[in-house]
Amino acid sequence: MRASQLFMPTLKDDPSDAEAASHKLLVRGGFVRQFAAGIYIFLPLGWRVMERVNRIIREEMDAIGALELSMPTIHPAEVWQQTGRYYDIGAEMFRLKDRGDRDMVLAMTHEEVFAWLAGRELRSYRDLPQIWYQIQTKFRDEPRPKGGVLRVREFLMKDSYSFDIDVEGLEVSYAKHIEAYDRIFTRTGLRFYRVESDPGMMGGLGAHEYMADSPAGEDRVALCECGYAANVELARSIALPPSAEEVTDLEGSEGPVEVSTPNTRTIAEVSSLLGIPASGLIKSLLMISDGQPVLAMVRGDQELRERKLERVLGASFRPAHPEEVKEITGTEGGFLGPVGLSGVRLLADLSLAPDGPGGARGYVTGANKLHAHLRGVVLGRDAQVEFVDLHEATSGEGCPECGGVLRIEQVIEVGNIFKLGTKYSDPLGVTVLDEDGVERPVIMGSYGIGPARIMATAVEQGNDERGIVWPKAIAPFDVQLVQVQAADETQTAVAAEVYFMLGEQGWDVLWDDRDVRAGVKFADAELIGAPVRVTVGKLAAHGVVEVQPRAGSERQEVALAELAATVASLWQAAR
Ligand code: ATP
Ligand code: MG
Repeated sequence: MRASQLFMPTLKDDPSDAEAASHKLLVRGGFVRQFAAGIYIFLPLGWRVMERVNRIIREEMDAIGALELSMPTIHPAEVWQQTGRYYDIGAEMFRLKDRGDRDMVLAMTHEEVFAWLAGRELRSYRDLPQIWYQIQTKFRDEPRPKGGVLRVREFLMKDSYSFDIDVEGLEVSYAKHIEAYDRIFTRTGLRFYRVESDPGMMGGLGAHEYMADSPAGEDRVALCECGYAANVELARSIALPPSAEEVTDLEGSEGPVEVSTPNTRTIAEVSSLLGIPASGLIKSLLMISDGQPVLAMVRGDQELRERKLERVLGASFRPAHPEEVKEITGTEGGFLGPVGLSGVRLLADLSLAPDGPGGARGYVTGANKLHAHLRGVVLGRDAQVEFVDLHEATSGEGCPECGGVLRIEQVIEVGNIFKLGTKYSDPLGVTVLDEDGVERPVIMGSYGIGPARIMATAVEQGNDERGIVWPKAIAPFDVQLVQVQAADETQTAVAAEVYFMLGEQGWDVLWDDRDVRAGVKFADAELIGAPVRVTVGKLAAHGVVEVQPRAGSERQEVALAELAATVASLWQAAR
């Protein structure tokens, strides 16, 4: 394509509201424009990238036997009411009424609609398995749309759904998706991890997320050399023991000893008053779940991970209000502890167990009495507690699989896969007859990928001070052909020759033939980020052009006869 015929509105400056690199560069490079908060226009360059991503997705979905179809994006509320999500989901769902005053919703996702279809059309185990997919618009009124196209309110998603007769079948469909996803993310050129994720407390048989490392990410994962990889929401870890001097300081007491701690409520305050590091303290948090009080305990140097507690409880929870704290414990926040507390479920992190990394040692806890704490509290001896995994994994802790050292990385979620089980088939009555003629609920899986997130993540992972460095598979063009002087006839002739020759060999070339300063063309080429640049300038008269990879700075002068081979080898070397 000729740049003179392309709508490519590049900008000199970053948009003022942009923080993420991808946001700045996709706007500056003329890929996208913001229409309203979290609602974006994809310009021709941006759409080319999306199309390349989508093509890869389609090829890999087709390769596992998935069938593409297209679902509506405006739904009667009924199906969403049947699964309960109409009520469970709050302001994130766009809701509207039709002219007959009927409740409608805009598609946030499509489990309900796919299940609706399956429930009507699939009759027998012979109709299974099925994998259906679409690349379709989703609407979500995200609380904080930000980061350009990383988190938006209207976006394309590849979503697929599998339908199987039993759990073994689901495992097969799930494994096929892992295969397809691994290939999709590898081909799109992202650095990514497949991590264990939380299938949510509404059941589900298992889930994984595909995560790409980037400081712009809103998720964190725990990783180990051995291959262990999990979202911190549920990542297990072996806590480090508290330091040695604390052990000597706190060991050996026969039972808890009360100490006066006036107005000392926080871990930091108690720690500094008593001269005991945070890891020698227990943080006690009173929660209410299903109307019942629960005391959740983690070490003073740890954070409670809400989702872990939710999984243990099998229900959601909330922090107790100050009046409830008073009523249940007789004291105020900051002085709570497990000793002597009755009628409260006591849950302590595994690292606090006598056989945990700290050993059977005494900790400092609140005394359930204003302005007082207890020293030398041994859980299991002084209070009967359940030991469960509650604390957030941190870097440096031990890997739960191999004992190695965990590291934590900031990541962007680019895709995820869920074993749903019968979560949607039950309420929507999706059943088939099995071999014995018995009606059975269909076992479902659901699988999502955000193509625009892939695009933005690729920019987060591939950029420098000059602009975008696209992975070659999803760059808007393979080769940027810069003609230095638009008016120079020799250059025009050589550029045309290069353009047609490379085109014939299958390269997608953007020929910058615009009548603008050479500096502008070079700057735009760097900004737009095609993997290979060919420059037609003064040497054109000698049949020589300059070639340079976007990812490096080494230029070479190449005779036209050699050009095809040079481009091919630079392409080969590009990521
Ligand atoms: P997140 O935790 O980031 O909100 P999610 O868990 O809500 O994501 P899913 O509902 O599973 O995401 O959607 C599948 C995929 O769709 C995600 O992995 C992501 O690539 C993409 N996606 C989700 N929400 C958005 C959004 N608001 N903007 C752009 N892409 C999105
Ligand atoms: Mg979300």
